[in-house]
Amino acid sequence: MSGPVRTRFAPSPTGYLHVGGARTALFNWLFARKHGGSFILRVEDTDEARNTEEARQAIFNGMQWLGLDWDEGHEAGGTCGPYFQSQRTDIYEKWFEHLRAADRVYKDEGAWRFRFERKPVTMQDLVCGEVTIDYRDESNTPDMVIRRSDGSFVFHFVNVVDDLEMQMSHVIRGEDHLMNTPKHLQLFEALGQDPPAYAHIPLILNADGSKMSKRDQGAAVHEYQERGFLPAAVNNFIALLGWSSKDADEIFSSAELVERFSLESVNRAPSRFDWDKCQWLNQQHLMALSPSEFATAAEPHVRGSGISMTADYEAMAASVQEKVQTLTEVAGMIDFYLELPPADEEILGKVRKNSDASTLLNELADRLGELGDWSQPADSISATAEAHGIKPGKLMFPLRVALSRRAAGPGLDDMLAILGKEESIRRIRLLLEDLA
Ligand code: GLU
Repeated sequence: MSGPVRTRFAPSPTGYLHVGGARTALFNWLFARKHGGSFILRVEDTDEARNTEEARQAIFNGMQWLGLDWDEGHEAGGTCGPYFQSQRTDIYEKWFEHLRAADRVYKDEGAWRFRFERKPVTMQDLVCGEVTIDYRDESNTPDMVIRRSDGSFVFHFVNVVDDLEMQMSHVIRGEDHLMNTPKHLQLFEALGQDPPAYAHIPLILNADGSKMSKRDQGAAVHEYQERGFLPAAVNNFIALLGWSSKDADEIFSSAELVERFSLESVNRAPSRFDWDKCQWLNQQHLMALSPSEFATAAEPHVRGSGISMTADYEAMAASVQEKVQTLTEVAGMIDFYLELPPADEEILGKVRKNSDASTLLNELADRLGELGDWSQPADSISATAEAHGIKPGKLMFPLRVALSRRAAGPGLDDMLAILGKEESIRRIRLLLEDLA
């Protein structure tokens, strides 16, 4: 590699950041970070009707949430700006003049066509390998329009001008652009400039092999944010859509991805979207957080549910850290700490299946009441079980229902510790009334 590594993400704003776009951004970002290069954000917003300020903002928000920081572009500055195509018309005019002076464009029904050189053009794609388009067959490769009759420039031309003006060393983009690249190479040559290296990354398909569309689950990055995923887990997930590590590892922090990423290990085959895997990865990332990091990450989702932030919030959240796949589940699993839900008949029926449940709970409540110190309340469970010659497990379900009115939830130790002596005993006595 000669010269500094410079990569870019060049989205056409459509109103949201698509998971495929996010993956393109991520791969460019990983490559730049890995090689100590620069990552540029260039907005391809020449389609004025579609490109609203809101649509641009959706891209910035998505990238920021994922932590894909850019060195040049919107609000970051840089010496190759402006970084919005809608503001670069003068630059395109200049390069268009260059083609005109070299007699490489001609007018056709008001539009301008670029005259291809009639020869085979071969590219060495860093992922797809060698790709050739033979321009000798004019009927298959008619000269392309690069400027419309209304004066506006076509994607191929502005994309190439920007990549050369912004001194891109590598262009990593979706495979849907693979067949555009020989056209782009023709333009680079006509403009007398060296092209960047290209790497085209495989398509992302739905689990059933169909093409992913806007409305499919997991298509929009903001959906992950709203559904309680961690940005690091989403980066991990989308990295694995098209890339795999040399060993069997699958769980990576963003820093580990930077360290391991290489274009050689980008897959050739299209990848399939797997929502269950995404949730599983999120769970792994959630488990790796410290309890206080977990509580902080869950906070925005818990606040929305109306749960007030008490001094015990962190302990409450931490008690379900290993039980959830997404942060949106936290609120519904810890609300019972603050307010005891009503017992439903189905759960009471399950408790009554054990005919000794009331006797055992009554005795447990007495024993808990005698404790002077609340550091090991669970000892009373084993003591009660022992006194009755039963396994402690028999007492655990009734106690869980007593403390939470639910069949599943945090560990009993955590619940006893967080609820404290008085409240735990009160809840057991209340269940006894319901069972009577
Ligand atoms: N605006 C183009 C797209 O979103 C960019 C293609 C490229 O990366 O060169 O597909």
